[in-house]
Amino acid sequence: MAGTRSPEDEYTAAPFVPEGADLGALREAAAGCHGCPLHRDTTQTVFGAGDPDARVVLVGEQPGDQEDRQGKPFVGPAGKVLDRALDEAGIDPDETYITNAVKHFKFTHVPERGKRRIHKPPSLRELSACGPWLAAELELIEPEVVVALGATAGKALLGSSFRVTKQRGTRLEGDPSGPARGALIVPTIHPSAVLRADDREAVYEGLVADLRVAAEALG
Ligand code: SF4
Repeated sequence: MAGTRSPEDEYTAAPFVPEGADLGALREAAAGCHGCPLHRDTTQTVFGAGDPDARVVLVGEQPGDQEDRQGKPFVGPAGKVLDRALDEAGIDPDETYITNAVKHFKFTHVPERGKRRIHKPPSLRELSACGPWLAAELELIEPEVVVALGATAGKALLGSSFRVTKQRGTRLEGDPSGPARGALIVPTIHPSAVLRADDREAVYEGLVADLRVAAEALG
């Protein structure tokens, strides 16, 4: 009904995504995206990076504090965990492309933690708004396997009913009309979960086991 739409209904990156662009041009265009309010308080857009011919693409949730400052995905502690786990699973990190479902850092401040920016998960609307960037990256790269790192990435690739606890470590067919465009999707946890866990070694081993499923799918 006219007059009842909230401004949030209009969130979308679609008008900012240039048609027929290569990855470099997409990255440049994403730097100016105002598709949702998350760009307002951040340092910069953090676009995907890595091998444009990768057979496997890794999709995380959103940039963190370090990524926001440096403008590159997975350069913080979680990225180091992921690189080690990939290597151990038999996937060369240098032969992957890595990106996030949401390209701007969402954070909040907690009074007792001073000026430190505390990660806040993106809403489904922000996730959906940023979807055209992820879809455009995957359309150009055409990977055989997409690894969903955590619940938010899983929802971006497989829909809002995705549950990481139930579906991790399995091979799922991507919807041909979805962002992964028929690639095999292997969900796992976000590597930051290893850093937050009481039993880091056990959680890390679980991550490696899931990544081995992706490695086996690559053959
Ligand atoms: S989070 Fe995504 S849709 Fe929102 S402003 Fe950033 S790039 Fe655009």
